[in-house]
Amino acid sequence: MATKKGDMLYAWTNDADIKKKAELGGAVTALWKYALEAKVVDAVLVVTKGVDLYDAVPVVISDPAELAKTAGSLHCGTLLMAKLVKKFLNGAKDQKIGVTVKGCDAMAFYELAKRKQINLDNVIMIGVNCGGSVSPVTARKMIRAKYDVDPEKVHKEEIDKGQFIIEYEGGHKGISVDELEEAGYGRRSNCRRCKMKIPRQADLACGNWGVIGEKAGKATFVEVCSEKGAALIEGAVKKGLLATEPANPKGLEIRGKVEGAMLKLGEKWRKKDFEALGEGKDRLQKIMSETARCIKCYQCIDVCPICYCVDCTTKNPAMVPPGELPVNFMFHLIRYSHIADSCVNCGQCEEVCAAEIPNALIMHSQQVELEKMFGHTPGINMELPLMAYVEEKEERARLNNTGSDMIYQNVFNPVAKK
Ligand code: FAD
Ligand code: SF4
Ligand code: SF4
Ligand code: SF4
Repeated sequence: MATKKGDMLYAWTNDADIKKKAELGGAVTALWKYALEAKVVDAVLVVTKGVDLYDAVPVVISDPAELAKTAGSLHCGTLLMAKLVKKFLNGAKDQKIGVTVKGCDAMAFYELAKRKQINLDNVIMIGVNCGGSVSPVTARKMIRAKYDVDPEKVHKEEIDKGQFIIEYEGGHKGISVDELEEAGYGRRSNCRRCKMKIPRQADLACGNWGVIGEKAGKATFVEVCSEKGAALIEGAVKKGLLATEPANPKGLEIRGKVEGAMLKLGEKWRKKDFEALGEGKDRLQKIMSETARCIKCYQCIDVCPICYCVDCTTKNPAMVPPGELPVNFMFHLIRYSHIADSCVNCGQCEEVCAAEIPNALIMHSQQVELEKMFGHTPGINMELPLMAYVEEKEERARLNNTGSDMIYQNVFNPVAKK
């Protein structure tokens, strides 16, 4: 029977090399192998282990023989794939790219695509369900403090049934993620608040939730989310790279329950984190005090998938006086006003901050408020938020020519457009 959008499958590969390294049966890597061999894509952007398991390295692969080394899940891999496609692969404008995406990656792809920075027609996304990732720095500290193990001796990590499990020279040990998080370790703070657990805006959504019975641990649960995804499965099955069977209905039910529980947990963390920021003036004061440490290194701007302006307003000396420390608060206000409506809570701006400012928390708290006010949810479809209607070059020209800053004119008064 032909595979179609909406199908729920168990899938695994018969390719021995991929199977050996794969997380759960190797369906994802086998699908990429098929996509490259059949020239459905020119290249794939995936992740491989660098010097150790704390070092997740993004790689572009066009030779299918090189794919096996990219199988497996790296939970200390806190990368964001979409900005890499924009910055280093010309937004997939001139080649077809396949990408493995977590929820935040998929959301960032949509935000960049709606701003014409990525051509989604040339992108195939295989989504992986995501319970969360752990910052490499935290992981090392946590393994030493909570597991009493030298992080250098760990050769494998996995998250299974709510535990973070490590294998090391001399044994293995698992501790519940809840316990680790109570102690200030565990997943990144943005991951705790994340509610994009099954990335259905990708072409396929793959994970271990709901794989039960004899296939448990040996196959991946695949939700077929688009016709592109269905065609990929069909092609890989025909070539003998992939085997599938309908998902066990009981497994489907369990997967639904786990997703529901994860969403509740995300909501709990949002409440906790946002309440700790205070409200109104208290929140503003807290944000001003946290951001007072900023050294204006621009890393948060560089990594953010929503920041893409060629002439960044924060570099305009009339807006942010140069050479001043502490940095004028306008620097942060510009970022809040430009991107808060579209923040996908990917955590990148917090991960890279030299001053350890909780940037993602601050921005995410604003995004959630703006969503309540204007009803726009970022990262789930091609719907534009208000600010994305602004054409940067057009608006700068208007400013220069008229001195008018009517950037919303196009939206509220379509007659005024062009
Ligand atoms: P494989 O053939 O082993 O391929 C895995 C693919 O993931 C490869 O393309 C690899 O390059 C890519 N990859 C590895 N690490 C990363 C990373 N950090 N970021 C982006 N891509 C990466 N499934 C669940 O059901 N519940 C979960 O809670 C869950 N949490 C996850 C958390 C993370 C950080 C990751 C990466 C995956 C998670 N998964 C989760 C998905 C699951 O671990 C498997 O990836 C999925 O079942 C596919 O298995 P496979 O054997 O078919 O994949
Ligand atoms: Fe996974 Fe969400 Fe964290 Fe992204 S933000 S790594 S999708 S839990
Ligand atoms: Fe990600 Fe931070 Fe940008 Fe939000 S503001 S999308 S968390 S980098
Ligand atoms: Fe400031 Fe941190 Fe951004 Fe650097 S990364 S500009 S220190 S907020």
